[in-house]
Amino acid sequence: MAGGEFALIAQLRSRLGTAGKGVRLGIGDDAAWLDPAGRQLVATMDTLVAGRHFFSDVRPYDLAWKALAVNLSDLAAMGAEARWCLLGLALPSRAASYGAWLEDFMGGWRALAERHDVTLAGGDTVATDGPLTLSVTALGLVDRSVMRRDAARPGDRIWVTGSLGDAAAALDLALMERGREGHRVLCSATQREALEARRLRPTPRLELGEAAASCGVRCALDCSDGFLADLGHILEASGARAHVALDALPLSPELADLARTDPERLRRWPLTGGDDYELILCAPPSLSAALRQAAAARGLRLTAVGRILPADSGSSAAVILTWRDQVVPLPAVWGHVHAL
Ligand code: ADP
Ligand code: MG
Repeated sequence: MAGGEFALIAQLRSRLGTAGKGVRLGIGDDAAWLDPAGRQLVATMDTLVAGRHFFSDVRPYDLAWKALAVNLSDLAAMGAEARWCLLGLALPSRAASYGAWLEDFMGGWRALAERHDVTLAGGDTVATDGPLTLSVTALGLVDRSVMRRDAARPGDRIWVTGSLGDAAAALDLALMERGREGHRVLCSATQREALEARRLRPTPRLELGEAAASCGVRCALDCSDGFLADLGHILEASGARAHVALDALPLSPELADLARTDPERLRRWPLTGGDDYELILCAPPSLSAALRQAAAARGLRLTAVGRILPADSGSSAAVILTWRDQVVPLPAVWGHVHAL
């Protein structure tokens, strides 16, 4: 690797690996030595491959942000406090030098890591003849129980943080621009920019995840494959069904402008589009006030979009979808399907 693996690691160490909470020994030895201080560990890993999970010409700043954000979002969905990360980098050997690339990459990583006080504690760096690949491991801490996908119960309200569908609409625009299959959308440059920012730099809902868990919420999942697909994971794991009001799904002002009056667009973006990284929470009505308050205290939108139903009530479909109180058909595809 031009520039040298060790020079690159030295840069990562000085810019991103400075002493953090609970880091007894960070980047530089054979392994990191971390102190969970009597709490319990939650661990997650996500791998992103150029051309498959991101466009190869993405800005390194945005790539770093996203690689970290998707992992922090998994910790958020468990109700954990994010603490440490490990970064696996497989860099194409054909690139002449990673100097400028790394600088921008570290800027994006740092912007998000500082927001949540997450320290880069180690990783691995290799050259590859394949595409640029990033693998991030995130470690978080919990005191008591985590939020699990198999813990939804009949009568629970289904809540969603923030808004849904922006990233999917932005992806359609980006695909169209690149002459690949997308969805024809007309929007202003400002709208486009707002949607694109949500696609490139998702906001992990760590504070709300932690607050929800300490309010007593036992069931959550982060929404990465598409709302319906991820809700489907909860329903399958919990052995339940759900009612979802399509017209209750929270939309950003930009997306509302494009989709509010068009059920087809609502189905395509907020209902089944992926990459939102919002939280889906299921909680009994007795927790509604506390949850609303937790969200309001953090200036975060939180919307009730449906209810968990028992497995055996009435129709056999796992989800009953309504639009303006009328039952409407479910889409054939519920979200992003992983090829493997
Ligand atoms: P070893 O050969 O013992 O695995 P390495 O030379 O791979 O050690 O790494 C040296 C140190 O640099 C280790 O502390 C490792 O965690 C850290 N490191 C290597 N690559 C990265 C990376 N991409 N991000 C963060 N830390 C890294
Ligand atoms: Mg190594």
